[in-house]
Amino acid sequence: MKKMYSLVIPLYNEEEVIHECIKRVTNVMHNNEFDYEIIFVNDGSSDSTEEIVKQYCDKDKHLKLISFSRNFGHQTAISAGMDNAEGDAIIVMDADLQDPPEVVLKLIEKYEEGFDVVYAIRSKRKGESFFKKITAKMFYRFLKNMCEVDIPVDTGDFRLISRQVCDVLKGLTERNRYVRGLVSWVGFKQTGIYYEREERYAGKTKYPLKKMLKLSVDGITSFSTKPLKLTKWIGIFMAAVGFIYAIIVIIQKLVGIQMQTGWASTMVTILLIGGIQLIMLGITGEYIARIFDESKNRPLYIIKEKVNMDE
Ligand code: UDP
Ligand code: MG
Repeated sequence: MKKMYSLVIPLYNEEEVIHECIKRVTNVMHNNEFDYEIIFVNDGSSDSTEEIVKQYCDKDKHLKLISFSRNFGHQTAISAGMDNAEGDAIIVMDADLQDPPEVVLKLIEKYEEGFDVVYAIRSKRKGESFFKKITAKMFYRFLKNMCEVDIPVDTGDFRLISRQVCDVLKGLTERNRYVRGLVSWVGFKQTGIYYEREERYAGKTKYPLKKMLKLSVDGITSFSTKPLKLTKWIGIFMAAVGFIYAIIVIIQKLVGIQMQTGWASTMVTILLIGGIQLIMLGITGEYIARIFDESKNRPLYIIKEKVNMDE
């Protein structure tokens, strides 16, 4: 029987790139010996993205659309695409053509060799700011050191997952999702291929610093409890310093050394310890907020409308 592949493409205000995206992706996917569907997930766009995609959906039944009731975020959009995909394997890619559609065929090739997860590693990133490149590079390495799970560095969400992996992911209902981490966490036979990340075709990035920070905090807190345990070590260190200092003071007193008035050192100590305590409290807060999010048990996303799909 013919294999069927699902492409999942999240969209947030992508009216400038959507035409070219559909053209390039369709070019790559049609005329192969496999069947395909392209699932666009409209993540609450406020521009005309939704209308444009609908027009294309009318003309081509391979194109499908899931529209959210508001912006739920990139990672949630990907998850919704996976939840609704019907293919034997699912490929997630960005709409802005930074992930070249031609690479999809290479991912499929690897899948047909028997891999369950094929992630695309960025050997080069074109047209992105120095700041983005350096922070991304540092973050991926930092995360790798923090986590018990082996999350490959320099990979985004551009990857292929098999039906079996997709079904496992669908069962993971956690909210503040870091999908690429979850994919690593499930295991199975995984491999990577290298590709050059292109420049964004048009428009601006939909990942401002705030969203990037949220994604990185989600990544760390979902896969590591080390920050929570940090408090203990800093506490032990501070207590040790305090103890040693107390001994020094006592000795000074006994030997009869005149004490400094010490306003500056007192201030520094108070600010330092106060600061550390607040940071630690903040880190604990991050985890508690996540527990709170989970306990509310709200749905991950709300679908407003589906096009070319069963309701
Ligand atoms: N995106 C989304 N919801 C968001 C932000 C982004 O669905 O809240 C989509 C966006 O339309 C694109 C993909 O996620 O298809 C990646 O976003 P972008 O290219 O802006 O990120 P960058 O490549 O700059 O990191
Ligand atoms: Mg992009």
